[in-house]
Amino acid sequence: MSEVTVRRLTDLATLVSLSKRRGFVFQSSEIYGGLSSCWDYGPLGSQLKLNVKQAWWRAMTRRREICGIDAAILMHPTVWKASGHVDGFSDPLVDCKDCKTRFRADNTESYLNHQKCPNCGSKNLSEPRQFNLMFKTHMGPVEDQGSVIYLRPETAQGHFVNFQNCQVTTRYKIPFGIAAIGKSFRNEITPGNFIFRTREFEQMEMQYFVKPGTDEKWFDTWKELRFCFYKKYGFRMENLRFHPHGPTELAHYAKAAVDVQYLFPIGWSELEGIHNRSDFDLTQHSKFSGKNLEYFDEANKEKFVPYVIETAVGCDRLVLAFLCDAYREEVTKDDKGQEDIRVVLGLHPELAPVKVAVLPLSKKEELTNIAEKLRDDLSLDMEAEYDESASIGKRYRRQDEIGTPFCVTVDFETLNDQAVTVRHRDTMKQERVAISQLTQYLQAKMKEF
Ligand code: ATP
Repeated sequence: MSEVTVRRLTDLATLVSLSKRRGFVFQSSEIYGGLSSCWDYGPLGSQLKLNVKQAWWRAMTRRREICGIDAAILMHPTVWKASGHVDGFSDPLVDCKDCKTRFRADNTESYLNHQKCPNCGSKNLSEPRQFNLMFKTHMGPVEDQGSVIYLRPETAQGHFVNFQNCQVTTRYKIPFGIAAIGKSFRNEITPGNFIFRTREFEQMEMQYFVKPGTDEKWFDTWKELRFCFYKKYGFRMENLRFHPHGPTELAHYAKAAVDVQYLFPIGWSELEGIHNRSDFDLTQHSKFSGKNLEYFDEANKEKFVPYVIETAVGCDRLVLAFLCDAYREEVTKDDKGQEDIRVVLGLHPELAPVKVAVLPLSKKEELTNIAEKLRDDLSLDMEAEYDESASIGKRYRRQDEIGTPFCVTVDFETLNDQAVTVRHRDTMKQERVAISQLTQYLQAKMKEF
């Protein structure tokens, strides 16, 4: 066999097209022409996203000292005054008076370097003005100023306002954490790059409450733990790095912050933020609510407002990173120099939307009956798919392209030996396995990744 060369993803368009073709992600409201930078997760994408969330949720809440919550998207409006979002959660917005493009002044190269519109190059621009990113709506039937309410721009505030509820009900002692997964909304000036930056997105945030003075140690610990998470799920580590925030990048609440950056096809970009939020949030909520949010340390008989170490990652952005990292094209050339390309999503089996595909070698009933029953049996323990159309080679390729780690072929030999051929996605090696042992075999192989 000729040598295999591997090509990696170089542009997002390839992924957007695969996502649509295979049912990972569709443009929102597509039949109406789509809604800009809104996306729907399809049959495979919704399962992939769920698996990503479960992996994160397990990594957090199976720890002894971290509990989960699921807080409401709508919160008391004063929460956003206390948090600083009403006054400070804004980006500088510039209008081009010629082509009417609006853009963010702080990350637009042509504006920063040349004071030009990134769309038409005009210099006829407005002064930058602060644009608040929170979506506003009204609660109840009357649309007046008193009924204004916000869609949360982050999940973290739900953790702070429930700090005491969680501490009392779990009886956790500091240090302990609260984790949540949920939708957030930001009226981004320039969303884009597929699911990288959208106005509606899902966040996975964890707030870890610690004694002041131990915050720097816990900040370092969480940096390490989050890196281990990425390693466990198979990221190519050369594509990940830390980017510490300099003094001008730090958010108003942060004592220290570091981004976990991933090398997306658009370049190194933030995947996750790890922040030392000091005692800013609990102090603010104490002030605005009038409730004492101090923690009483019984062992040392002392009271203090805990510091918070936060880890915050966008689920959609993480799904995108997993897809980018997993995508590969294995290219072989035949004698005439003709290229054959095998597209593989090398997803970690825990994340793969389909774990196993059952493929009867022919459409004859004696095989399809066994194969369909086998799929149903396997699906009690894992996501299993059945496919009888097209040649076996084509069916393998379809599964490779969606990241299915195993294909199981039912052939005529199966009728005699009650065994099937298991084909592995990454090595393409094949093994004969007894049907009675199949579930245990696959589960064991998945753990080896
Ligand atoms: P950015 O600099 O990219 O705007 P941020 O620093 O404002 O992000 P945080 O407020 O720290 O982001 O949010 C934590 C995480 O939530 C980010 O690391 C990112 O993964 C995700 N996230 C933030 N904004 C968006 C968005 N508009 N679309 C998708 N994910 C987002």
